[in-house]
Amino acid sequence: MGRRPLVAGNWKMHTTIQEARKLAEAVVKAGADVIDRDIMIAPPFTALSAVFEIVRGSPSVRLAAQNICWAEKGAFTGEISPVMLKDAGCSMAIIGHSERRHVFGEDDAMINKRVLGAFEFELVPVFCIGETLDEREAGKTMEILENQMRSGLAGVTADQAQTVVVAYEPVWAIGTGKTATVEQAQEVHAFLRGLLVSMFEKNIATQIRILYGGSVNPENVDALMSQEDVDGALVGGASLKAESFDRIIHFQ
Ligand code: PEP
Repeated sequence: MGRRPLVAGNWKMHTTIQEARKLAEAVVKAGADVIDRDIMIAPPFTALSAVFEIVRGSPSVRLAAQNICWAEKGAFTGEISPVMLKDAGCSMAIIGHSERRHVFGEDDAMINKRVLGAFEFELVPVFCIGETLDEREAGKTMEILENQMRSGLAGVTADQAQTVVVAYEPVWAIGTGKTATVEQAQEVHAFLRGLLVSMFEKNIATQIRILYGGSVNPENVDALMSQEDVDGALVGGASLKAESFDRIIHFQ
């Protein structure tokens, strides 16, 4: 069976509750005619409950958190637990986003704890990996990605792996307007698929969705989505504009 594409919007630290409601309404409207693909939106924590009230009736739109703690509750100031996120309506959580890794210093071990915590509470991790420009220029892209993948998914069972979403986001392409070429994206995605085959069984690895992220926009989405191993997009900037995200959702 083919992999069902996923178009995911990461709103980052944007939108008040009122703005989030408006944007979510537009996404639900845009997704109303969509039957062959999934849509995910990740508003800031403060807007999750309000957005859930808007997306809960939609057959295609799922709600995600932008990060997740591994513990159910306790002394973790500033963190949000999986139970709280489910309570707010989330079924998915972005983990290991490059801004968490590079701005807030989250390392592979912490990201792995978050991934395992999400699984424990039955939330779907959208697990992000990506190389920096220096690493790419030094010819280390695949080595870096392999390390991130193996450490981030350490301890994940084959059953759990079936549901994970992997997002390949080259750091140099996030928020910069520079997109990987379709060939660069497909080359990495094919490598990641092979890596997943070596980590899990082939019939599991071929079901795992691998999203591309990094300056995806209405102009480049069709070409990226035409690649065999590109199963969707994780979209930052362009997901904040209803019209652009509508066009990305309707990639051809
Ligand atoms: C992201 O936030 O994951 C992202 C890819 O951002 P942008 O689309 O703005 O590059």
